[in-house]
Amino acid sequence: MAELHARVLIAGGGTGGITLASWLRRLRPDLEVAVIEPSPFHDYQSGWVLVAGGFVDVASTRRPEGEVIPEGVRWIQAAVAAFEPDQNRVRLADGQCVGYDVLVVALGLELQWSAVPGLAESLGRHSVTSIYRRDLAAHTRRVLESFKGGTAIFTHPATAIKCGGAPQKIMHLADQQFKARSGVGVRSRLLFCTAQPALFPVAAYSERMVAIAAERGEEVRYHHDLVAVNGAERTATFCVKEPGKVSREAVLPFDLLHVVPPMAAPAVVARSPLAVNPGEGWVAVDPRTAQHRRYGNVFAIGDVGSFPTAKTAAAVRQQAPVVAANVVAVLEGRSPESAYDGYSACPLITSDHSVMLLEFDYRQQPVSSFLVNPVKERWFTWLLERFGFPWIYWNRMLTGQPHEAAYLKPLEGIARRLGLMRWQRSQRP
Ligand code: FAD
Repeated sequence: MAELHARVLIAGGGTGGITLASWLRRLRPDLEVAVIEPSPFHDYQSGWVLVAGGFVDVASTRRPEGEVIPEGVRWIQAAVAAFEPDQNRVRLADGQCVGYDVLVVALGLELQWSAVPGLAESLGRHSVTSIYRRDLAAHTRRVLESFKGGTAIFTHPATAIKCGGAPQKIMHLADQQFKARSGVGVRSRLLFCTAQPALFPVAAYSERMVAIAAERGEEVRYHHDLVAVNGAERTATFCVKEPGKVSREAVLPFDLLHVVPPMAAPAVVARSPLAVNPGEGWVAVDPRTAQHRRYGNVFAIGDVGSFPTAKTAAAVRQQAPVVAANVVAVLEGRSPESAYDGYSACPLITSDHSVMLLEFDYRQQPVSSFLVNPVKERWFTWLLERFGFPWIYWNRMLTGQPHEAAYLKPLEGIARRLGLMRWQRSQRP
């Protein structure tokens, strides 16, 4: 069988793969780019929260993959079965090999539903649900709408996850809905059980998130890692590992359980020579250039990379122009010089009319794209989340357009001189 070959091969045609392919075509219209992606569909995953909240239809979060592959880019509809970077090739599930000059890994991450005994069998039944699966987003909406009262538990696992704010977004939306029905006898107790020691890694945001939960009477339990679910008996078992104490087990009864499962690098990456430690982990990249630490012609973008920042589509938006510039540099025999500053963002929905836009970078400090104090819930950021971001995703991000906030740059100097802007802003490509 003749081996396929592409100058630039992108493994994965999700958010990172498609955004990068568009940027590469923008920089070098003649560059030969191929994307390996098995799915016939492309999902706007951030929209699943909006589906669960009853704001949009699930159909609006999906488009055919063929519609988002940029013109001139070859789509290889197959799954990667192995990475063989010493031979500059990947092996597909059907055994065929695809060679490359430069490889960019964009496989996202794996959701490990089976890692929690009882979870996979309970999902979609017994009021156990999750916005982290497309097919359960509308189910979550129905579960919230039919909740008659009692204890609703929302979990956050011990591993890194995509969109670290999403587990709280769905809790706040549920809380608002339940309180609106208190007049018809719905009495709820909301528990946020997180395996983490804080609500968010950036202290200024975490403090405000703690205050928001307290204002609403939502109870937070730290160091609570979900280890088993019994759907029929409606109990959730947590391993509680508080610092300085012997770990214990806590069995909590629930009337509604929203689960965010543990997440990890895809197995095909973890077992490849590309992993941080061969045998486990994310693709080992330089956090600024996204270039692989051992293979100079390999890069990663998105959730699958070992970038020490939050895994979000917002991060991908900033990484894409950097990775594209560095891929072109390597193809031309230069050193990669473009740098990613770790920017990531998560719109924390706190109600059906307010969002706190959590923006930050490698310094783990709040930054603001919009010249305003980011540690604040706002209506305009709700409008962005509800109407702006979905439009931007399909029409500007996947097509490789510069970040909207770049257009505010000329105003920034004036705002600073007038003392209107005290907030740092991340570097925008
Ligand atoms: P993905 O977009 O997941 O793409 C990975 C692609 O690789 C997929 O298309 C998959 O089919 C493909 N693939 C997998 N295995 C193989 C294989 N073996 N061979 C070939 N292809 C393969 N981000 C935000 O910025 N803001 C938000 O508000 C937000 N909210 C979110 C809410 C939810 C519920 C979820 C689930 C995510 C949210 N995110 C949010 C996160 C965001 O969607 C991800 O960070 C982003 O999609 C990561 O892009 P990626 O390309 O790394 O991975």
